[in-house]
Amino acid sequence: MENKTKRYILPENEIPKYWYNIQADMVNKPMPPIHPGTKQPLKAEDLYPIFAEELCKQEVNQTDAWIKIPEEVREMYKYYRSTPLVRAYGLEKALDTPAHIYFKNESVSPVGSHKLNSALPQAYYCKAQGITNVTTETGAGQWGAALSYATKVFGLECAVYQVKISYEQKPYRRSIMQTFGAQVTPSPSMSTRAGKDILTANPNYSGSLGTAISEAIELALETPNCRYTLGSVLSHVALHQTIIGLEAEKQMEMAGEYPDIVIACFGGGSNFGGIAFPFMRHKILDGKKTRFIAAEPASCPKLTRGKFMYDFGDEAGYTPLLPMYTLGHNFAPANIHAGGLRYHGAGVIVSQLLKDGYMEAVDIKQLDSFDAGCLFAHTEGIIPAPESSHAIAATINEALKCKETGEEKVILFNLSGHGLIDMTAYDQYLSGDLVNYSLSEEEIAKNLEEIEKLK
Ligand SMILES: *Cc1c(COP(=O)(O)O)cnc(C)c1O
Repeated sequence: MENKTKRYILPENEIPKYWYNIQADMVNKPMPPIHPGTKQPLKAEDLYPIFAEELCKQEVNQTDAWIKIPEEVREMYKYYRSTPLVRAYGLEKALDTPAHIYFKNESVSPVGSHKLNSALPQAYYCKAQGITNVTTETGAGQWGAALSYATKVFGLECAVYQVKISYEQKPYRRSIMQTFGAQVTPSPSMSTRAGKDILTANPNYSGSLGTAISEAIELALETPNCRYTLGSVLSHVALHQTIIGLEAEKQMEMAGEYPDIVIACFGGGSNFGGIAFPFMRHKILDGKKTRFIAAEPASCPKLTRGKFMYDFGDEAGYTPLLPMYTLGHNFAPANIHAGGLRYHGAGVIVSQLLKDGYMEAVDIKQLDSFDAGCLFAHTEGIIPAPESSHAIAATINEALKCKETGEEKVILFNLSGHGLIDMTAYDQYLSGDLVNYSLSEEEIAKNLEEIEKLK
Protein backbone atom coordinates (compact mmCIF):
# COMPACT_ATOMS: atom_id res chain seq x y z
CA MET A 1 0.00 0.00 0.00
CA GLU A 2 2.95 2.32 0.69
CA ASN A 3 3.42 3.60 -2.85
CA LYS A 4 -0.22 4.06 -3.67
CA THR A 5 -1.68 7.53 -3.95
CA LYS A 6 -4.15 8.20 -1.16
CA ARG A 7 -5.32 11.72 -1.82
CA TYR A 8 -6.02 13.69 -5.00
CA ILE A 9 -6.23 17.48 -5.16
CA LEU A 10 -6.55 19.83 -8.12
CA PRO A 11 -4.32 22.81 -8.86
CA GLU A 12 -6.06 26.20 -8.52
CA ASN A 13 -6.54 26.67 -12.27
CA GLU A 14 -8.38 23.33 -12.44
CA ILE A 15 -11.10 24.44 -9.99
CA PRO A 16 -14.27 24.49 -12.13
CA LYS A 17 -15.32 27.82 -13.67
CA TYR A 18 -18.93 26.71 -14.28
CA TRP A 19 -21.59 24.94 -12.25
CA TYR A 20 -23.57 22.16 -13.93
CA ASN A 21 -27.34 22.64 -14.31
CA ILE A 22 -28.77 19.13 -14.76
CA GLN A 23 -32.25 20.54 -15.48
CA ALA A 24 -31.07 21.40 -19.01
CA ASP A 25 -30.22 17.76 -19.74
CA MET A 26 -33.10 16.02 -17.95
CA VAL A 27 -35.45 14.08 -20.21
CA ASN A 28 -38.47 14.86 -18.02
CA LYS A 29 -37.98 18.33 -16.54
CA PRO A 30 -39.19 18.94 -12.99
CA MET A 31 -42.80 20.15 -12.98
CA PRO A 32 -43.12 23.85 -12.16
CA PRO A 33 -43.62 25.28 -8.67
CA ILE A 34 -47.24 26.41 -8.32
CA HIS A 35 -48.72 29.47 -6.62
CA PRO A 36 -50.94 28.10 -3.81
CA GLY A 37 -53.64 30.75 -4.36
CA THR A 38 -53.92 31.00 -8.14
CA LYS A 39 -52.68 27.44 -8.85
CA GLN A 40 -50.65 28.95 -11.72
CA PRO A 41 -47.04 27.93 -12.46
CA LEU A 42 -44.54 30.33 -10.91
CA LYS A 43 -42.18 32.52 -12.92
CA ALA A 44 -38.78 33.72 -11.71
CA GLU A 45 -40.23 37.23 -11.06
CA ASP A 46 -42.77 35.78 -8.63
CA LEU A 47 -39.87 34.78 -6.37
CA TYR A 48 -38.06 38.16 -6.45
CA PRO A 49 -39.58 39.39 -3.14
CA ILE A 50 -38.06 36.36 -1.37
CA PHE A 51 -34.72 35.59 -3.06
CA ALA A 52 -31.98 37.51 -4.87
CA GLU A 53 -33.01 37.86 -8.54
CA GLU A 54 -30.09 35.91 -9.98
CA LEU A 55 -30.95 32.96 -7.72
CA CYS A 56 -34.61 33.05 -8.88
CA LYS A 57 -33.43 32.87 -12.48
CA GLN A 58 -31.14 29.94 -11.69
CA GLU A 59 -34.00 28.23 -9.87
CA VAL A 60 -36.20 27.96 -12.96
CA ASN A 61 -33.47 27.73 -15.61
CA GLN A 62 -34.11 24.58 -17.65
CA THR A 63 -32.07 25.54 -20.71
CA ASP A 64 -28.45 26.40 -19.78
CA ALA A 65 -26.43 23.34 -18.79
CA TRP A 66 -23.44 25.42 -17.65
CA ILE A 67 -23.66 28.51 -15.44
CA LYS A 68 -20.61 30.68 -14.86
CA ILE A 69 -19.28 30.92 -11.34
CA PRO A 70 -18.75 34.63 -10.54
CA GLU A 71 -15.05 35.51 -10.22
CA GLU A 72 -15.61 36.88 -6.67
CA VAL A 73 -17.07 33.53 -5.60
CA ARG A 74 -14.37 31.49 -7.30
CA GLU A 75 -11.73 33.56 -5.49
CA MET A 76 -13.35 32.57 -2.17
CA TYR A 77 -13.60 28.91 -3.24
CA LYS A 78 -9.82 28.95 -3.65
CA TYR A 79 -9.39 29.24 0.12
CA TYR A 80 -10.51 25.63 0.57
CA ARG A 81 -11.01 24.09 -2.87
CA SER A 82 -10.39 21.77 -4.42
CA THR A 83 -11.37 19.55 -1.50
CA PRO A 84 -9.46 16.26 -1.44
CA LEU A 85 -10.67 13.05 -3.03
CA VAL A 86 -9.41 10.32 -0.71
CA ARG A 87 -9.08 6.57 -1.25
CA ALA A 88 -10.39 4.98 1.96
CA TYR A 89 -7.81 2.19 2.18
CA GLY A 90 -8.33 1.91 5.95
CA LEU A 91 -12.07 1.35 5.64
CA GLU A 92 -11.60 -1.10 2.74
CA LYS A 93 -9.19 -3.14 4.86
CA ALA A 94 -11.46 -3.18 7.91
CA LEU A 95 -14.35 -4.40 5.75
CA ASP A 96 -12.13 -6.87 3.90
CA THR A 97 -13.86 -5.84 0.69
CA PRO A 98 -12.59 -5.97 -2.90
CA ALA A 99 -14.46 -2.69 -3.53
CA HIS A 100 -12.45 0.48 -4.08
CA ILE A 101 -13.90 3.15 -1.80
CA TYR A 102 -13.29 6.85 -2.42
CA PHE A 103 -14.69 9.82 -0.55
CA LYS A 104 -14.84 13.50 -1.38
CA ASN A 105 -13.88 15.35 1.78
CA GLU A 106 -16.11 18.43 2.07
CA SER A 107 -15.40 18.60 5.80
CA VAL A 108 -12.24 20.63 5.09
CA SER A 109 -14.21 23.79 4.32
CA PRO A 110 -13.63 26.61 6.87
CA VAL A 111 -17.01 25.91 8.50
CA GLY A 112 -16.70 22.13 8.34
CA SER A 113 -19.29 21.18 5.71
CA HIS A 114 -20.30 21.47 2.05
CA LYS A 115 -22.79 24.24 2.91
CA LEU A 116 -20.28 27.03 2.24
CA ASN A 117 -20.30 26.13 -1.49
CA SER A 118 -23.77 27.67 -1.78
CA ALA A 119 -23.57 30.23 1.05
CA LEU A 120 -20.82 32.13 -0.79
CA PRO A 121 -22.71 32.60 -4.10
CA GLN A 122 -26.00 33.31 -2.31
CA ALA A 123 -24.39 36.07 -0.23
CA TYR A 124 -22.55 37.36 -3.29
CA TYR A 125 -25.71 37.64 -5.47
CA CYS A 126 -27.55 39.46 -2.64
CA LYS A 127 -24.67 41.91 -2.27
CA ALA A 128 -24.39 42.45 -6.03
CA GLN A 129 -28.09 43.38 -6.10
CA GLY A 130 -27.75 45.93 -3.28
CA ILE A 131 -29.45 43.83 -0.58
CA THR A 132 -28.19 44.66 2.94
CA ASN A 133 -29.81 41.98 5.16
CA VAL A 134 -30.37 38.27 4.80
CA THR A 135 -32.38 35.79 6.86
CA THR A 136 -32.31 32.05 6.99
CA GLU A 137 -33.12 28.98 9.05
CA THR A 138 -30.72 26.35 10.22
CA GLY A 139 -31.26 22.82 11.50
CA ALA A 140 -28.05 21.36 12.83
CA GLY A 141 -26.46 24.79 12.53
CA GLN A 142 -24.28 23.95 9.55
CA TRP A 143 -26.09 26.17 7.06
CA GLY A 144 -26.36 29.01 9.57
CA ALA A 145 -22.63 28.80 10.24
CA ALA A 146 -21.81 28.81 6.54
CA LEU A 147 -24.12 31.74 5.78
CA SER A 148 -22.88 33.72 8.80
CA TYR A 149 -19.34 33.49 7.46
CA ALA A 150 -20.33 34.15 3.83
CA THR A 151 -22.36 37.25 4.76
CA LYS A 152 -19.39 38.54 6.76
CA VAL A 153 -17.17 38.04 3.70
CA PHE A 154 -19.52 40.10 1.49
CA GLY A 155 -20.49 42.67 4.15
CA LEU A 156 -24.15 41.78 4.84
CA GLU A 157 -26.21 41.55 8.06
CA CYS A 158 -27.44 38.04 8.87
CA ALA A 159 -30.37 36.82 11.02
CA VAL A 160 -30.71 33.07 11.64
CA TYR A 161 -33.64 31.06 13.04
CA GLN A 162 -32.15 27.92 14.54
CA VAL A 163 -34.40 24.87 15.16
CA LYS A 164 -34.88 24.87 18.95
CA ILE A 165 -33.77 21.27 19.51
CA SER A 166 -30.41 21.93 17.87
CA TYR A 167 -30.09 25.39 19.50
CA GLU A 168 -30.17 23.43 22.78
CA GLN A 169 -28.23 20.33 21.66
CA LYS A 170 -25.53 22.16 19.70
CA PRO A 171 -24.70 25.37 21.58
CA TYR A 172 -21.32 25.66 19.86
CA ARG A 173 -22.92 26.01 16.43
CA ARG A 174 -24.77 29.00 17.84
CA SER A 175 -21.46 30.40 19.15
CA ILE A 176 -19.91 29.94 15.72
CA MET A 177 -22.70 31.90 14.04
CA GLN A 178 -22.44 34.62 16.68
CA THR A 179 -18.66 34.74 16.30
CA PHE A 180 -19.21 35.55 12.63
CA GLY A 181 -21.57 38.32 13.72
CA ALA A 182 -24.99 36.76 13.02
CA GLN A 183 -28.09 37.28 15.16
CA VAL A 184 -29.44 33.85 16.22
CA THR A 185 -33.01 33.11 17.45
CA PRO A 186 -34.31 29.67 18.51
CA SER A 187 -37.33 28.54 16.46
CA PRO A 188 -40.30 28.41 17.04
CA SER A 189 -40.07 31.92 18.49
CA MET A 190 -42.62 34.56 19.46
CA SER A 191 -41.03 37.04 17.03
CA THR A 192 -43.12 35.94 14.02
CA ARG A 193 -46.75 35.08 13.39
CA ALA A 194 -45.75 31.63 12.13
CA GLY A 195 -43.77 30.95 15.32
CA LYS A 196 -46.55 32.25 17.58
CA ASP A 197 -49.18 30.09 15.88
CA ILE A 198 -47.12 26.95 16.28
CA LEU A 199 -46.19 27.68 19.90
CA THR A 200 -49.81 28.39 20.77
CA ALA A 201 -50.89 25.03 19.34
CA ASN A 202 -47.97 23.13 20.86
CA PRO A 203 -45.94 25.00 23.54
CA ASN A 204 -43.32 22.22 23.86
CA TYR A 205 -42.63 21.88 20.14
CA SER A 206 -38.89 21.37 19.67
CA GLY A 207 -38.97 22.90 16.21
CA SER A 208 -38.32 21.69 12.70
CA LEU A 209 -36.73 23.05 9.56
CA GLY A 210 -40.21 23.62 8.12
CA THR A 211 -41.14 25.93 10.99
CA ALA A 212 -37.84 27.79 10.99
CA ILE A 213 -38.18 28.39 7.24
CA SER A 214 -41.62 29.95 7.79
CA GLU A 215 -40.16 32.31 10.39
CA ALA A 216 -37.18 33.34 8.26
CA ILE A 217 -39.35 34.00 5.17
CA GLU A 218 -41.77 36.06 7.23
CA LEU A 219 -38.93 38.22 8.57
CA ALA A 220 -37.48 38.68 5.07
CA LEU A 221 -40.84 39.77 3.65
CA GLU A 222 -41.32 42.30 6.46
CA THR A 223 -37.80 43.79 6.56
CA PRO A 224 -36.79 46.40 3.95
CA ASN A 225 -33.92 45.46 1.64
CA CYS A 226 -33.84 41.96 3.06
CA ARG A 227 -33.94 38.57 1.33
CA TYR A 228 -34.26 35.00 2.47
CA THR A 229 -31.74 32.26 1.67
CA LEU A 230 -32.06 28.49 1.83
CA GLY A 231 -29.25 25.98 2.38
CA SER A 232 -30.82 22.96 0.67
CA VAL A 233 -33.88 21.66 -1.22
CA LEU A 234 -34.01 24.34 -3.93
CA SER A 235 -32.56 23.75 -7.37
CA HIS A 236 -30.15 26.71 -7.27
CA VAL A 237 -28.57 25.30 -4.09
CA ALA A 238 -27.95 21.93 -5.74
CA LEU A 239 -26.57 23.83 -8.75
CA HIS A 240 -23.89 25.52 -6.60
CA GLN A 241 -23.04 22.20 -4.96
CA THR A 242 -22.18 20.59 -8.31
CA ILE A 243 -18.69 22.00 -7.77
CA ILE A 244 -18.24 18.86 -5.61
CA GLY A 245 -19.00 16.36 -8.37
CA LEU A 246 -17.26 18.36 -11.09
CA GLU A 247 -14.05 18.31 -9.07
CA ALA A 248 -14.55 14.64 -8.18
CA GLU A 249 -14.91 13.80 -11.87
CA LYS A 250 -11.45 15.22 -12.59
CA GLN A 251 -9.99 13.66 -9.45
CA MET A 252 -11.38 10.19 -10.24
CA GLU A 253 -9.72 10.57 -13.62
CA MET A 254 -6.42 11.28 -11.83
CA ALA A 255 -6.98 8.05 -9.90
CA GLY A 256 -7.65 6.25 -13.20
CA GLU A 257 -11.10 5.06 -12.12
CA TYR A 258 -14.78 5.81 -12.67
CA PRO A 259 -17.42 5.22 -9.97
CA ASP A 260 -19.89 2.35 -10.34
CA ILE A 261 -21.84 3.70 -7.37
CA VAL A 262 -22.15 7.28 -6.08
CA ILE A 263 -23.58 7.76 -2.58
CA ALA A 264 -24.52 10.75 -0.43
CA CYS A 265 -26.68 11.38 2.61
CA PHE A 266 -29.98 13.11 1.99
CA GLY A 267 -31.64 16.01 3.79
CA GLY A 268 -33.09 18.18 1.04
CA GLY A 269 -30.74 16.86 -1.61
CA SER A 270 -28.01 19.48 -2.05
CA ASN A 271 -24.90 17.45 -1.22
CA PHE A 272 -26.41 14.45 -3.00
CA GLY A 273 -27.14 16.49 -6.13
CA GLY A 274 -23.75 18.15 -5.76
CA ILE A 275 -21.76 14.96 -6.01
CA ALA A 276 -24.23 12.99 -8.17
CA PHE A 277 -25.42 15.31 -10.96
CA PRO A 278 -22.10 15.73 -12.83
CA PHE A 279 -21.79 11.92 -13.01
CA MET A 280 -25.50 11.47 -13.75
CA ARG A 281 -24.96 13.70 -16.78
CA HIS A 282 -23.12 10.78 -18.36
CA LYS A 283 -25.94 8.40 -17.45
CA ILE A 284 -28.46 10.70 -19.18
CA LEU A 285 -26.32 11.67 -22.19
CA ASP A 286 -23.95 8.72 -22.69
CA GLY A 287 -25.85 5.80 -21.18
CA LYS A 288 -23.32 5.11 -18.37
CA LYS A 289 -24.61 2.53 -15.91
CA THR A 290 -23.56 4.27 -12.68
CA ARG A 291 -25.89 3.74 -9.69
CA PHE A 292 -26.78 6.69 -7.47
CA ILE A 293 -27.89 6.10 -3.89
CA ALA A 294 -29.37 8.68 -1.52
CA ALA A 295 -29.14 7.68 2.16
CA GLU A 296 -31.87 9.11 4.36
CA PRO A 297 -32.71 8.53 8.04
CA ALA A 298 -35.28 5.81 8.75
CA SER A 299 -37.12 8.31 10.96
CA CYS A 300 -37.59 10.83 8.12
CA PRO A 301 -38.01 8.62 5.04
CA LYS A 302 -39.49 10.88 2.36
CA LEU A 303 -37.71 9.16 -0.54
CA THR A 304 -38.30 5.55 0.51
CA ARG A 305 -41.77 5.91 2.07
CA GLY A 306 -43.07 9.37 1.15
CA LYS A 307 -45.32 10.24 -1.76
CA PHE A 308 -44.67 12.25 -4.94
CA MET A 309 -47.07 15.19 -4.87
CA TYR A 310 -47.37 18.96 -4.67
CA ASP A 311 -46.64 20.16 -1.13
CA PHE A 312 -45.37 23.23 0.70
CA GLY A 313 -41.68 23.53 1.53
CA ASP A 314 -42.42 24.96 4.97
CA GLU A 315 -44.72 24.34 7.88
CA ALA A 316 -46.82 27.52 7.62
CA GLY A 317 -47.33 27.35 3.85
CA TYR A 318 -45.44 30.50 2.74
CA THR A 319 -43.49 28.76 -0.03
CA PRO A 320 -44.87 27.85 -3.45
CA LEU A 321 -46.28 24.34 -3.85
CA LEU A 322 -43.46 22.09 -5.02
CA PRO A 323 -43.73 18.75 -6.89
CA MET A 324 -41.71 16.47 -4.65
CA TYR A 325 -41.45 13.32 -2.56
CA THR A 326 -42.80 14.37 0.80
CA LEU A 327 -44.03 13.12 4.15
CA GLY A 328 -46.26 16.20 4.38
CA HIS A 329 -45.24 19.71 5.47
CA ASN A 330 -46.95 19.04 8.79
CA PHE A 331 -44.64 16.06 9.47
CA ALA A 332 -42.74 16.41 12.77
CA PRO A 333 -39.55 14.30 12.55
CA ALA A 334 -38.13 12.50 15.59
CA ASN A 335 -35.32 14.28 17.43
CA ILE A 336 -32.45 12.40 15.79
CA HIS A 337 -28.93 13.84 15.94
CA ALA A 338 -28.58 14.20 12.19
CA GLY A 339 -30.42 17.52 12.37
CA GLY A 340 -29.59 18.38 8.77
CA LEU A 341 -31.65 15.39 7.58
CA ARG A 342 -34.81 16.29 9.53
CA TYR A 343 -36.79 17.73 6.63
CA HIS A 344 -40.13 16.54 5.29
CA GLY A 345 -39.51 16.90 1.54
CA ALA A 346 -36.97 16.42 -1.24
CA GLY A 347 -35.81 18.88 -3.90
CA VAL A 348 -37.85 18.90 -7.14
CA ILE A 349 -34.96 17.78 -9.38
CA VAL A 350 -34.07 14.79 -7.23
CA SER A 351 -37.76 13.92 -6.84
CA GLN A 352 -38.19 13.78 -10.61
CA LEU A 353 -34.99 11.76 -11.05
CA LEU A 354 -36.10 9.24 -8.43
CA LYS A 355 -39.52 8.96 -10.06
CA ASP A 356 -37.84 8.35 -13.43
CA GLY A 357 -35.53 5.65 -12.07
CA TYR A 358 -32.20 7.47 -12.45
CA MET A 359 -31.40 6.97 -8.76
CA GLU A 360 -32.25 4.90 -5.69
CA ALA A 361 -32.81 5.64 -2.03
CA VAL A 362 -32.11 3.68 1.15
CA ASP A 363 -33.04 4.41 4.75
CA ILE A 364 -30.56 4.10 7.61
CA LYS A 365 -31.38 3.63 11.29
CA GLN A 366 -29.82 6.06 13.76
CA LEU A 367 -27.75 3.41 15.59
CA ASP A 368 -26.44 1.96 12.32
CA SER A 369 -25.37 5.43 11.23
CA PHE A 370 -23.32 5.88 14.42
CA ASP A 371 -21.81 2.37 14.11
CA ALA A 372 -20.69 3.36 10.62
CA GLY A 373 -19.44 6.78 11.74
CA CYS A 374 -17.28 5.22 14.45
CA LEU A 375 -15.80 2.61 12.12
CA PHE A 376 -14.95 5.43 9.70
CA ALA A 377 -13.34 7.43 12.52
CA HIS A 378 -11.25 4.40 13.57
CA THR A 379 -10.07 3.62 10.05
CA GLU A 380 -9.81 7.05 8.36
CA GLY A 381 -9.20 9.33 11.34
CA ILE A 382 -12.06 11.72 10.64
CA ILE A 383 -15.08 11.95 12.97
CA PRO A 384 -17.96 12.38 10.53
CA ALA A 385 -21.04 14.58 10.96
CA PRO A 386 -24.03 12.41 12.00
CA GLU A 387 -25.60 13.33 8.65
CA SER A 388 -22.57 12.12 6.68
CA SER A 389 -22.56 8.85 8.65
CA HIS A 390 -25.73 7.88 6.77
CA ALA A 391 -23.73 7.95 3.53
CA ILE A 392 -20.96 5.94 5.19
CA ALA A 393 -23.46 3.31 6.40
CA ALA A 394 -24.88 2.97 2.87
CA THR A 395 -21.33 2.72 1.48
CA ILE A 396 -20.46 -0.02 3.96
CA ASN A 397 -23.58 -1.97 2.96
CA GLU A 398 -22.58 -1.81 -0.71
CA ALA A 399 -18.95 -2.69 0.04
CA LEU A 400 -20.08 -5.74 2.03
CA LYS A 401 -22.23 -6.87 -0.91
CA CYS A 402 -19.07 -6.69 -3.05
CA LYS A 403 -17.35 -8.90 -0.50
CA GLU A 404 -20.07 -11.53 -0.96
CA THR A 405 -19.97 -11.42 -4.75
CA GLY A 406 -16.24 -10.76 -5.10
CA GLU A 407 -16.92 -7.74 -7.30
CA GLU A 408 -14.28 -5.01 -7.41
CA LYS A 409 -16.72 -2.11 -7.66
CA VAL A 410 -15.66 1.52 -7.36
CA ILE A 411 -17.73 3.35 -4.77
CA LEU A 412 -17.60 7.12 -4.34
CA PHE A 413 -19.33 8.81 -1.42
CA ASN A 414 -19.54 12.38 -0.23
CA LEU A 415 -18.28 13.17 3.27
CA SER A 416 -20.53 16.21 3.67
CA GLY A 417 -19.04 17.38 6.96
CA HIS A 418 -17.09 16.55 10.12
CA GLY A 419 -18.70 15.90 13.48
CA LEU A 420 -16.35 17.77 15.80
CA ILE A 421 -19.18 20.00 16.99
CA ASP A 422 -21.52 17.04 17.38
CA MET A 423 -19.72 15.32 20.23
CA THR A 424 -22.77 15.38 22.55
CA ALA A 425 -24.34 13.01 20.01
CA TYR A 426 -21.30 10.74 20.08
CA ASP A 427 -21.32 10.89 23.91
CA GLN A 428 -24.88 9.59 23.93
CA TYR A 429 -24.02 6.87 21.44
CA LEU A 430 -20.97 5.77 23.44
CA SER A 431 -22.92 5.65 26.69
CA GLY A 432 -25.66 3.54 25.04
CA ASP A 433 -28.35 6.20 25.31
CA LEU A 434 -29.16 6.51 21.61
CA VAL A 435 -32.25 4.79 20.21
CA ASN A 436 -33.77 3.98 16.83
CA TYR A 437 -37.08 5.63 15.97
CA SER A 438 -39.67 3.65 14.07
CA LEU A 439 -42.42 5.18 12.05
CA SER A 440 -45.67 3.34 11.38
CA GLU A 441 -47.50 3.30 8.05
CA GLU A 442 -50.46 4.88 9.87
CA GLU A 443 -48.41 7.88 10.98
CA ILE A 444 -47.16 8.47 7.44
CA ALA A 445 -50.59 8.00 5.88
CA LYS A 446 -52.25 10.33 8.38
CA ASN A 447 -49.95 13.23 7.46
CA LEU A 448 -50.28 12.68 3.74
CA GLU A 449 -54.08 12.61 3.89
CA GLU A 450 -54.05 16.22 5.02
CA ILE A 451 -51.81 17.21 2.12
CA GLU A 452 -54.08 15.52 -0.41
CA LYS A 453 -56.73 18.08 0.59
CA LEU A 454 -54.55 20.90 -0.79
CA LYS A 455 -55.18 19.83 -4.36
C1 LIG B 1 -27.10 20.18 5.84
C2 LIG B 1 -26.28 18.99 5.83
C3 LIG B 1 -26.69 17.82 5.17
C4 LIG B 1 -28.04 17.66 4.51
O1 LIG B 1 -28.38 18.59 3.53
P1 LIG B 1 -28.41 18.25 1.99
O2 LIG B 1 -28.97 19.47 1.35
O3 LIG B 1 -29.30 17.06 1.80
O4 LIG B 1 -27.03 17.99 1.58
C5 LIG B 1 -25.83 16.75 5.14
N1 LIG B 1 -24.64 16.79 5.75
C6 LIG B 1 -24.21 17.88 6.41
C7 LIG B 1 -22.88 17.86 7.08
C8 LIG B 1 -25.01 19.01 6.46
O5 LIG B 1 -24.58 20.10 7.11
